[in-house]
Amino acid sequence: MRWTQTYIPTLREQSSEAELISHQLLLRGGFIRKLAAGIYIYLPLMQRVIEKFSRIVREEMNKSGAIEITMPVLHPAEVWQESGRYDTVGKEQMRLKDRHLHEMVLGGTHEEIVTYLLRGELKSYRQLPLNLYQIQVKFRDEIRPRFGLMRGREFIMKDAYTFDTDEDSFMVAYQKMVDAYFAIFKRAGLDTKKVESDTGAMGGKAAHEFMLIVDTEGGEEVIMFCDKCDYAANIEKATFREINPPEVDNEVLEKKEVDTPNASTIEEVTAFLKVDATRLVKTLIYLADGKPAAAMIRGDRNLNLTKLKNQLNAIEIESAPPAVVEDVTQCPVGYAGPIELPKDMPIIVDNEVSKMKNFIVGGNKKETHIINVNLDRDFRATAVADIIDAPEGEMCPHCDGRLVAKQGIEVGNTFMLGTKYSESMGAKFLDAEGNEKPFIMGSYGIGITRTPQAAVERYHDEKGIVWPKNIAPYLVEIIPLNYEKDEHKKAAEQIYAELVNNNIDCLLDDRPERAGVKFNDADLIGIPLRIIIGDRALKQGKVELKARGGDEVVMADLGDVLTAVKGLLERIN
Ligand code: ATP
Ligand code: MG
Repeated sequence: MRWTQTYIPTLREQSSEAELISHQLLLRGGFIRKLAAGIYIYLPLMQRVIEKFSRIVREEMNKSGAIEITMPVLHPAEVWQESGRYDTVGKEQMRLKDRHLHEMVLGGTHEEIVTYLLRGELKSYRQLPLNLYQIQVKFRDEIRPRFGLMRGREFIMKDAYTFDTDEDSFMVAYQKMVDAYFAIFKRAGLDTKKVESDTGAMGGKAAHEFMLIVDTEGGEEVIMFCDKCDYAANIEKATFREINPPEVDNEVLEKKEVDTPNASTIEEVTAFLKVDATRLVKTLIYLADGKPAAAMIRGDRNLNLTKLKNQLNAIEIESAPPAVVEDVTQCPVGYAGPIELPKDMPIIVDNEVSKMKNFIVGGNKKETHIINVNLDRDFRATAVADIIDAPEGEMCPHCDGRLVAKQGIEVGNTFMLGTKYSESMGAKFLDAEGNEKPFIMGSYGIGITRTPQAAVERYHDEKGIVWPKNIAPYLVEIIPLNYEKDEHKKAAEQIYAELVNNNIDCLLDDRPERAGVKFNDADLIGIPLRIIIGDRALKQGKVELKARGGDEVVMADLGDVLTAVKGLLERIN
């Protein structure tokens, strides 16, 4: 492709619209433009990246035995009502009415549709196992659409669905997807880690996420790794064992109200009462689907919202606004405690708290705390469960290693769905003995638009993008320093023709621009290899080859460019 014949609107200025470096670079490199929050236009370079990544995904999915189909984006609401998810997906689901006022939804995922497709049609165990996938647009009204293609409201996903007769067969299908995922990300130049994750609204019994570890703020997910064994889990799921649990009193003491003037934070209360934060229990008030609920965790711990949400069986959860806290505690914010909260208010107590004796809680009264409080004697728990973040430095749940936190971007995931959808939607087959059984299902997603941006977040420098070669929009960029000059033009055209004839995607910068402009743009758009055509080398019948990601410069004879390009491409990621 010639630069003058495509559309690559690079920008010199930083955009105020982008917080993340990858988002900034995709905008400035002329890859994407925003239409509305979380909704983007893919320009020619992005289109090529998406196509290259999609091709890798297709090839590996097909190799694994999965079969491609295309399901509609527009769904009648009834299908979602059948599975029950119409009422549980929450506000993320985009809804609309057709001209007959029929309720419709825009698909954010396709478990219901694929189950609808096969139920009643796929009846015999002989037709299983089956894995159907698609590469399709998805709509999700994300609360915080941000970071460009990372979290869009309209985006592209590869989603696959497996159907099996029994657990053994399912585990084979699941492993095939895991293997295909590692192969896909590896070909895309991305080293991903598979971690345990929460099953969330998808339901089912277990799930994994494929994470690209980054050290920028683009890493929205926190992942806990064991420094000794291969345990790795998303913070929403990670558990731990405490290395040095605080001592527990032998006796249960009488509870007592104490004045704590001007002390409401953990630091203030521990300083005032001269106790360790491990003696304190925080009572945090949330709104779960609009109803107040309390969570109790040790003073030195952080609440995990996903774990709490699961315990409360809630669809949406948020911190309660001050007015609600004041209403349920009947006092100013800062002194919430579990004693004498409204009777019907759920109180979820963290596992650690359930083992403590004689702890300190807020008094539900201004500048007051209560000491020597004990669970069951002084208040009741609706449930006792793990609702805190596994802290860095604590012990791995499986061995005596320590937990280490890293940040990552979720590029794909795999869910064991079990029979959640086949049961609720009545999708059954006849086994060899003629018994009717629900399918055992799995679902598997890859972000087709998120992954390339994640690659940019991982691979860039101060000048621009450094694309991994297999998802780069072009492999080679030819830069004649002065295309107007006959010798430059002739050499450029000769190399261009040779590369094109040999199926090497290349972009020829044939603009009448200064060399500096061309170099800046080349750095910005990040094509893996560039060929520079300038007077000095040309005089000796040579051109200069340079990889975007390194300092290596290769001088190649004009007649030898193809071999040199192939050689250099082989050596880079
Ligand atoms: P997240 O936790 O990031 O919201 P998710 O668990 O909702 O992701 P899935 O529903 O399993 O994700 O979707 C499968 C894949 O689709 C994800 O791994 C991710 O790569 C991609 N994806 C999910 N939501 C978005 C989005 N809003 N924009 C772009 N890609 C997305
Ligand atoms: Mg999501």
